[in-house]
Amino acid sequence: MSDNRESVWMLDGRVADLARLYRTRHGWAHPSPQACPAGHRLGPDQVIVSAIPCGHLLTHHRSYTCRTCGRVVAWPPITQACNHFGGLRNL
Ligand SMILES: [Zn+2]
Ligand SMILES: [Zn+2]
Repeated sequence: MSDNRESVWMLDGRVADLARLYRTRHGWAHPSPQACPAGHRLGPDQVIVSAIPCGHLLTHHRSYTCRTCGRVVAWPPITQACNHFGGLRNL
């Protein structure tokens, strides 16, 4: 299972609610995790951000892959019921 709630999610330098969408000067933005579950900082050059289409949620997960250790933080959390069309295995 994933460890989303152990990560601090921030936007524009403030702690943010990870499930919300925020309006900023640059348009709508999602908070992003500040560190992976292993504690590595996820700065702009240390994280790979992607979207995973999910046949179970009928929307996308946002996923943040730590370039240091490869751990993935995803929102909404990835569950056993997920169907990612073979793109990403269930965690
Ligand atoms: Zn890491
Ligand atoms: Zn899914």
